[in-house]
Amino acid sequence: MSMPKDPEVTLDPADWTAVRALSHRVVDDAVHHLSTVRSRPVWQEMPDNVRARYLTEVPQTSTPLAAVYEDMIENLLPYAMGNIHPRFWGWYMGSSNYTGALADFIAAVDGSNVGGGNTAAVHLDRQVVSWLKAMMQFPADASGTLTSGGSMANMVGLTVARNAMAGVDVRTQGVTSLPRSLRFYASDQAHSCHQKAMEMLGLGSRALRLVPTGPDFQLSVVALEQAIAQDRAAGLRPACVIATAGTTNTGAIDDMRSIAQVCRREDLWFHVDGCIGALIKIAPANCGLVEGIELADSIALDPHKWLHTPFEAGCALLRDSARHRATFSLHGEYLEEKARGIAAGEFLSDYGFELSRSFKALKIWMSLKEHGVAKFGQLIDQNIAQAAYLATVIKAEPKLKLMAPSPINIVCFRYQIEGAPESDLKEINTEIMLRLQEAGTAVPTDTTVHGQHCIRVAINNHRTRREDLDLLIREVVRLGTELENSR
Ligand SMILES: *Cc1c(COP(=O)(O)O)cnc(C)c1O
Repeated sequence: MSMPKDPEVTLDPADWTAVRALSHRVVDDAVHHLSTVRSRPVWQEMPDNVRARYLTEVPQTSTPLAAVYEDMIENLLPYAMGNIHPRFWGWYMGSSNYTGALADFIAAVDGSNVGGGNTAAVHLDRQVVSWLKAMMQFPADASGTLTSGGSMANMVGLTVARNAMAGVDVRTQGVTSLPRSLRFYASDQAHSCHQKAMEMLGLGSRALRLVPTGPDFQLSVVALEQAIAQDRAAGLRPACVIATAGTTNTGAIDDMRSIAQVCRREDLWFHVDGCIGALIKIAPANCGLVEGIELADSIALDPHKWLHTPFEAGCALLRDSARHRATFSLHGEYLEEKARGIAAGEFLSDYGFELSRSFKALKIWMSLKEHGVAKFGQLIDQNIAQAAYLATVIKAEPKLKLMAPSPINIVCFRYQIEGAPESDLKEINTEIMLRLQEAGTAVPTDTTVHGQHCIRVAINNHRTRREDLDLLIREVVRLGTELENSR
């Protein structure tokens, strides 16, 4: 046997001293980046030469880490989404937090795959799920799983619902063996992930029946009962109601207590999409808004929204842990469970589709430990109060019109021109929004509610101050007046 001529290669640096020095710089730059965020534009367009850098070929040879890092500082960080900025209110994001960033770094250093195994990371993941259960006042024997986000958390809940309500063993027989087609119900304001879920579950988008909403954008319970009766009469199997606790358009919260009663009476699964509003449960001034959520059979929530966990982190909670496990548990011969050793304990992959799982629990765990739940509750109340303030300012401003009730932290409004057709208003308000984005002043987005276009501000941000909202209103009125006068 001959020894290899060269020593084996590794990804570890030849010189840890240089890497340590660079790492210290990364931390210094990160702290600077976050502590000065307010002084920068919220967002800016990428120049063509930067865009071109993301089209280069796969590198075959090495580059010193310091140079790779320089490239990133110059070409990546300035062109971020901007949701860490105090005046980002687009779509529905969280604004991340520094402790979570540290946690992501430590999680990668720990390196554990949290699909299962007898490791501290797995125990910590379970603990975070238990904490989220307790925060939602869900029973202690319920189960849950951390997911990439809310879409996947809803998917987990709806998959368990499908299997529980199918009337056949769907895992073995497949959806073609369903004796009657299943129907799921949600309001016409429900998030698009539910239709995607129906499609992926093999039920087809027509399995999702959208129930109309009134001027409050809440699911009409009367219309729901009618739809269930109609479907039953037509030989379908009403299976599940998806209530939304905080719709994406306007933040409307469905009447979960009434929906729970309908589900109990009609033998339907009660799922809550709480990606936006579930966590209001921990907010002392507003927790009454999500009364009844604790009655759900399954809840989807999103720590990367109102807990500001860096992306990604969602969570599905299931009241019936046996059904949850029965939906996903499966072990190849290479994954046999053992009473002792590294494979001891339940595999977390038995509670979802994914086998390999990231150590996303740590970023939730560290910031919950650091701040305590009460602080997050206070921040949620603060955002809701800020939205109420914004709505009040809009109502007092003659050029602006509030377009929907604003029960939580989402405000839909527009620059109003008396007598102008809808198409003109859409054009002007879109232009106002784009100018705000392109100037880097603020990032609202837009939507259409009950046929009317509006600018939409979702204040899910722990850095926003009232003065930021005042600035937004000043700029919208200024830009709107300019555009109106040049018509
Ligand atoms: C954000 C959101 C989702 C999707 O969650 P992701 O984390 O983006 O996958 C689902 N439902 C509602 C109501 C949401 O606001």
